[in-house]
Amino acid sequence: MSRSFDVVVIGGGPAGYIAAIRAAQHGLTAACIDEWKNRDGKNAFGGTCLNAGCIPSKALLESTELYHRAQHEFKKHGIQTGDVAMDVTTMQKRRASIVRQLTGGIAGLFKANKVEGLVGHGKLLAGKKVEFTPVSGDVEIIDAKHVVLASGSSPINLGIAPFDGDKIIDSWDALELEAVPPRLGVVGAGVIGLELGSVWARLGSKVTILEAMDDFLFMADRDVAKVAAQDFKKQGLDIKLGAKVAKGTAGKKSVKVEYADKDGAQTIEVDKLIVAVGRRPHTDNLFADDAGIQLDERGFIVVDDECRTRVKGVYAVGDCVRGPMLAHKGSEEGVMAADLIAGEIAEMNYDVIPSVLYTSPEIAWTGKTEAEVKASGRPYKTGSFPFMASGRAKAMEQTSGMVKIISSKDDDEILGVHIVGPMAGELIAEAVLALEFSASTEDLQRTIHAHPSLAEAVHEAALAVDKRALNFPNK
Ligand code: FAD
Ligand code: NAD
Repeated sequence: MSRSFDVVVIGGGPAGYIAAIRAAQHGLTAACIDEWKNRDGKNAFGGTCLNAGCIPSKALLESTELYHRAQHEFKKHGIQTGDVAMDVTTMQKRRASIVRQLTGGIAGLFKANKVEGLVGHGKLLAGKKVEFTPVSGDVEIIDAKHVVLASGSSPINLGIAPFDGDKIIDSWDALELEAVPPRLGVVGAGVIGLELGSVWARLGSKVTILEAMDDFLFMADRDVAKVAAQDFKKQGLDIKLGAKVAKGTAGKKSVKVEYADKDGAQTIEVDKLIVAVGRRPHTDNLFADDAGIQLDERGFIVVDDECRTRVKGVYAVGDCVRGPMLAHKGSEEGVMAADLIAGEIAEMNYDVIPSVLYTSPEIAWTGKTEAEVKASGRPYKTGSFPFMASGRAKAMEQTSGMVKIISSKDDDEILGVHIVGPMAGELIAEAVLALEFSASTEDLQRTIHAHPSLAEAVHEAALAVDKRALNFPNK
């Protein structure tokens, strides 16, 4: 007799494993199928995020930031260390150990919540049956009352500079390099290009980033992008804008990269080339032709606002559906899908998803940019506060950047918050909550913030919106 579950989730990344746990918390029987295999040949739950994305990149960003600060800041505090050196092997062992602990933790979470973790390939068949091909053993057809597709995404492979796993590499390879490449090229000044470019630049690589767009960080508020561009330049990241890559050719020792910019055809030679030009939804062999699932023209699974596919009882969440490719967006969609399956009311507020770049300084925002508000035609006011005027930031020796708030002139509603500076990724949480509750600027102004704290910069930026900043001259 075939096994049956109330909910079968295909994909064990942050969208899928969270959906399975939430379903089980509703008292539903739930299974989560995942086929991820790490470079050591071992299977692991957690998907891209835990194995080859968010977590390992943040581990390396932390190690290299500490190294950088030890070299450049310790002296200012009076700390004498002599020469500081980085042992890349130890750094990489720490990264791998954090990944192992967190991915291993999912097995514990599954056990505690009574989720059946199934290692192997899952494929949706017609009639909500799921074909499960285990790593070892026989193919099994599982009956599901509900199915959640959470198959994630994979890096875009540029035909003009195809991955070879050695010299022309994707973000996963770039996270696991065992030696510092003297010259590192990156195609794409997006989130991955800037985070991984920062990691290897701090360790001594001469990093050149080629970005096709003329505007730096085109998705961010212009004031924030301007500060960030200046800081990255100071850090030695050579970001070439308007650079259209024509070809990347791997030779025996190096990679030749040909590109064109406003001055014509250019060539650079690097030891490794990371191609980070975005990711595409991964739906290979995920569903049978007659399963009823529809893909859009970009390959994403078509879903409505509640992540329902065209097939009743089948949902899709995370990177394989429209919207930003972010772990927290996928997890919240997983929660919503499980809640809807359990018969509860649930919804996602897609307008208030935080974006964070874990560079130095960090960059974080939520809501609309000033350009977006301007284009909407709604009258608005803005205020900003520089970390230079923050006592806590000074004590931390991290005074670059600012908080900027955009609010409506008509009813004082906060429309967007943009931060570049220390701990921006943590500070943005207050702004997300404010926007979630449709808070006014005055709400933030009258909220008591601890002193001295970086969060005071958010408070002062809110005051600055009405030209009432207390610790910085109002413009
Ligand atoms: P995934 O994490 O891709 O998981 C999908 C899983 O499904 C995989 O394990 C895959 O093997 C499995 N699978 C697919 N098809 C099948 C099948 N048919 N059968 C069985 N298993 C299947 N986001 C952030 O929010 N913050 C960050 O700091 C951040 N940093 C990142 C850094 C890097 C270098 C990268 C590459 C990404 C980063 N992201 C970050 C993005 C984040 O990793 C993704 O948005 C997130 O992992 C998407 O989750 P998901 O569950 O939809 O898909
Ligand atoms: P991205 O979309 O952030 O950036 C890709 C960049 O490459 C863009 O600036 C684009 O203009 C540029 N580009 C595209 N084609 C090009 C070409 N031919 N030549 C030169 N430049 C080109 O994509 P990514 O950096 O690959 O990241 C993929 C996804 O992973 C993103 O959606 C991101 O949300 C997610 N991610 C998130 C985090 C985070 O939240 N901190 C970190 C890493 C990755």
